[in-house]
Amino acid sequence: MRPPLIAGNWKMNKTPSEARALLADLVPRVSGAAGVEVAVAPPFPALEAAAAAVAGSPVRLAAQNLHWEPAGAFTGEVSATMLADLGVAYVIVGHSERRQLFGDTDETVARRAAAALDAEITPIVCVGESLDERESGRALDVVAAQVRGSVGPLGAAGAGRVVLAYEPVWAIGTGRTATSAQAQEVHARIRSVLGELAGPDRAAEVRILYGGSVKPDNVAGLMAEPDVDGALVGGASLDAETFASVVCFRV
Ligand code: PEP
Repeated sequence: MRPPLIAGNWKMNKTPSEARALLADLVPRVSGAAGVEVAVAPPFPALEAAAAAVAGSPVRLAAQNLHWEPAGAFTGEVSATMLADLGVAYVIVGHSERRQLFGDTDETVARRAAAALDAEITPIVCVGESLDERESGRALDVVAAQVRGSVGPLGAAGAGRVVLAYEPVWAIGTGRTATSAQAQEVHARIRSVLGELAGPDRAAEVRILYGGSVKPDNVAGLMAEPDVDGALVGGASLDAETFASVVCFRV
């Protein structure tokens, strides 16, 4: 019902030539991974090289952000139309680094997600609590509010077409992973909020990824949870062998 999705977020890493080399190594390693969808999100300048490198393979292309306007005087921004023209299938929106460092809010995240959906690109909408919010017992409420704010404005049909990524901020790039039970608890809450926004049938179809120091040795445990439908992988996606081991978590 929800085919697992493992997506690699390269962040601000890899030139176009480095992207070509990484994908030449990665594509044959993951092409036989039955029943798992794989995507990579290179930085914008490497997207065209990456599109050529994954052409004809099952690896899908993702972008790391987009602007909500289709075109115009928005220096430095990239539109959904541009990404669609490159063959981009997914776009990450509201990553915690965008929220913390570049001023993204639930409202702007929702606008980005809506623009992606209009261009037939699936937004991967990121949510997640800070360490302070977790330690003060507010993780579930914070994440629920982010889902309502970032996905609610898309309407019931739109909310049913997104991918969610639960990425606790304290687990991103820290080597500290949420336990499988912690991830499942939050994912179940996210699905329940999606049920309010999109109806239970649509909510049951939405994939909810876990992100935060996912590695070959912890992915299987996370994926065993009923509401963990894949992973958004940062650091471990920058090396072909390591990322392929994450993708092939069933083997
Ligand atoms: C991310 O940035 O989306 C992420 C999950 O990073 P890492 O896997 O390095 O923690």
